[in-house]
Amino acid sequence: MKKYDYLIVGSGLFGSVFAHEANKRGKTCLVIDKRDHAGGNVFCEKVEGINVHKYGPHVFHTNDEDIWNYVQQFVKFNHFVCNTLAVYKDEMYNLPFNMNTFYQLWGTRKPEEAKAKIQSQKEALNIKEPSNLEEQALSLVGPDVYEKLIKGYTEKQWGRPATELPAFIIKRLPVRFTYDNNYFNDKYQGIPIGGYNVLIDGLLEGIEVRTNTDYFENREEFDNIADNVVFTGKIDQYYDFQFGQLEYRSLRFDTEVMDTDNYQGNAVVNYTERDVPYTRVIEHKHFEFGTGPKTVVTKEHPQEWTSEKEPYYPVNDAKNTAVFKQYQDLADKAENVIFGGRLAEYRYYDMHQIIGSALKKVKDHFSAVEA
Ligand code: FAD
Ligand code: UDP
Repeated sequence: MKKYDYLIVGSGLFGSVFAHEANKRGKTCLVIDKRDHAGGNVFCEKVEGINVHKYGPHVFHTNDEDIWNYVQQFVKFNHFVCNTLAVYKDEMYNLPFNMNTFYQLWGTRKPEEAKAKIQSQKEALNIKEPSNLEEQALSLVGPDVYEKLIKGYTEKQWGRPATELPAFIIKRLPVRFTYDNNYFNDKYQGIPIGGYNVLIDGLLEGIEVRTNTDYFENREEFDNIADNVVFTGKIDQYYDFQFGQLEYRSLRFDTEVMDTDNYQGNAVVNYTERDVPYTRVIEHKHFEFGTGPKTVVTKEHPQEWTSEKEPYYPVNDAKNTAVFKQYQDLADKAENVIFGGRLAEYRYYDMHQIIGSALKKVKDHFSAVEA
């Protein structure tokens, strides 16, 4: 008989949802995290009374009513709607790509005019089946939008030519022929009132959590502490990199407190030019309609991942997909280990997708256990 039913490696949303659900079913859980706090990448740090999104801007959005109701058990959400701006040289555009953007680019006022403009640009390119991000972007919005708003941003974000990136990445952004600047199409959207830590604290209530604790530093001891392991760290590391290292994209966040009440008038402003070293500037107070005298601003600099940096994004190109597949084959056969989350599933998941994936794994796991 081991001390815990579940050891949960990683206190991000996946680990926290799994722990909550297991605890609710009367199981004993130990959650460990190598960082000095719980919450993974949604963690917020209070600075000058403002919830600073320490690991990048996080806007919750979902179309799934069950997931929306699930998170509401722990925290209420405000009415924030993400309207992102893009700066290219001395020009400013609305995102995602919509009638405002097209007007700013071409002076087109009617959807028909904008559609005709894109169509004429697309025809000249003759792309049948887009096979990479560049072709996908060109066939969605044409070369003008691509050159000013996509190519530079994408290539600095990913550190790779857009021709080597998967098409799905650009499909995250809506293209609309209405004057609607909402960055997302989903039915529900907002920021947790009081910040994401309220959500994490609610999920982890009554559960033992040890921070500053790395699974790999005491692997044998941790494997013997619980009957099952839920692993949300890097899957290649779990398997000792036996098929080689997976690549990730990392970020550096340069954050400063400014002695002004409003620096840029919006939560997120993207800088789409290749030569500006950062991709976006975040002014955190605007996520919660803050009115205090100071502001906190973060510049997000993309960088290649190395072992001492945080692995924020999986790089789902052909090479890494093939390596990941080998790890996944091992994971599928593993007993008493559940792999989940952005790092273990090597997928570009948003928060609602992580919650959906965790709830599905909980359901499958407990129905098998209880059968
Ligand atoms: P994580 O949050 O990464 O948690 C994994 C945890 O495991 C970490 O705390 C880590 O320290 C710990 N860990 C790893 N290895 C070990 C180990 N060996 N031992 C102990 N602990 C370990 N989603 C949205 O829906 N909307 C957004 O606007 C949005 N913006 C984003 C912006 C950025 C810059 C990034 C990077 C992500 C964004 N996301 C957004 C995605 C969102 O962050 C993820 O979907 C979600 O947080 C992933 O949860 P997770 O539990 O899989 O992983
Ligand atoms: N993107 C772009 N220009 C922008 C914003 C996004 O080309 O101004 C592309 C880029 O390739 C990025 C992808 O769209 O990686 C997805 O953008 P999103 O804002 O969803 O990125 P995330 O918030 O996940 O970093």
